[in-house]
Amino acid sequence: MINLYRERQKAWQRAGLQRGFRPVQGAQGAELTCDGRTLLAFCSNDYLGLANDPRVREAAASALTHYGVGAGASALVCGYSDVQAELERELAEWLGQARSLVFSSGYLAHLGVLPVLVDQNTAVFSDALNHASLIDGIRLARPGALTVYPHADMNALEQALQQSSLRQRWIISDGVFSMDGDVAPLHDLADLAERHGAGLLIDDAHGVGVLGAQGRGSVAESGIRGEHVLTTVTFGKALGSSGAGVVGSQALVDWLAQRARTHMFSTALPPLVCAATRKAIECARAEEFRRDQLRNLGKRLQMGLREQGLPVVPSVTAIHPVMVGDNRRVMKMAEALQALGIWVAPIRPPTVPDGTARLRISLSAVHEMEQVDCLVSALSQVWRKE
Ligand SMILES: *Cc1c(COP(=O)(O)O)cnc(C)c1O
Repeated sequence: MINLYRERQKAWQRAGLQRGFRPVQGAQGAELTCDGRTLLAFCSNDYLGLANDPRVREAAASALTHYGVGAGASALVCGYSDVQAELERELAEWLGQARSLVFSSGYLAHLGVLPVLVDQNTAVFSDALNHASLIDGIRLARPGALTVYPHADMNALEQALQQSSLRQRWIISDGVFSMDGDVAPLHDLADLAERHGAGLLIDDAHGVGVLGAQGRGSVAESGIRGEHVLTTVTFGKALGSSGAGVVGSQALVDWLAQRARTHMFSTALPPLVCAATRKAIECARAEEFRRDQLRNLGKRLQMGLREQGLPVVPSVTAIHPVMVGDNRRVMKMAEALQALGIWVAPIRPPTVPDGTARLRISLSAVHEMEQVDCLVSALSQVWRKE
């Protein structure tokens, strides 16, 4: 039987889909060391450079001394620390919502939340480019009807809503799309949700910290709000930590806290991670210069690549994809960049649709302008050769 999997892996390899593991020696930052070699890295989601911030490290270290390492149990048994309670309160306050609930990861948040919101009497409307964790959460929830509408196509969504016979509805979308870097049409989504009596779940993994006043994210920036809007915030991206929170109205989040199975049956987040995340939120809120730097780096990168004739997708977020198309070509380009000392992630199916392989450039506030120039010049060189 093992041969079956061996054969499958060989076919996977032949299709140019094999992934490798590259152990990183040390902390996240503009430069990463691998196999003793230092590379200029544009592949981390540590958008604000907080993963190795001295204040965030110190918060984790002093919580480690006070609480030890593990939470010991799930939150509903005895793993709920006072620092997690504080984190939940501050997260909700930051985003201007009534309540939040913390999970061990964004993936687990969606696997837990969707089966509570959605059942056989619910119709779900999901953007075609939504993150895998949303897709899997919907699968687990087994909705009565599921419409996957073409990416950001509000006409298609409206038609599907009009045709739906189920009264209970949820519209589900990334706030910032993880592999494309574009922002969802949140106003239209909220408007359609309101007019068709639907709830709206927005996964703001790549928006929080990066967009909006005080980094409150795409949902806050768009000004949409209401009882039926629920937002997911992941701590592993711009906050440089780990875990996730679901943020919304008291009634909705109270119910999630009672029923979400990935919350009930999974060990609570270590207190030291909660403490680090609290500090990261404090820094992300206050330090507008990080968002300014990110925006300026983004403009420089977009302009540079366009001048060189490279197909960079316009973006106001930290994510800047360069479309390549072919799986093997994108791998060759990433390898050629490595040879020049630059690490950019080649993204292939199933992470993105077939035929849309790309280099996903992600920027961080800890990058410098010269480093972006360096990337542009290496990319244009590689683009012509590979
Ligand atoms: C990373 C990511 C998640 C999952 O969050 P983790 O905390 O890493 O599990 C969910 N949604 C999107 C859009 C993401 O990019």
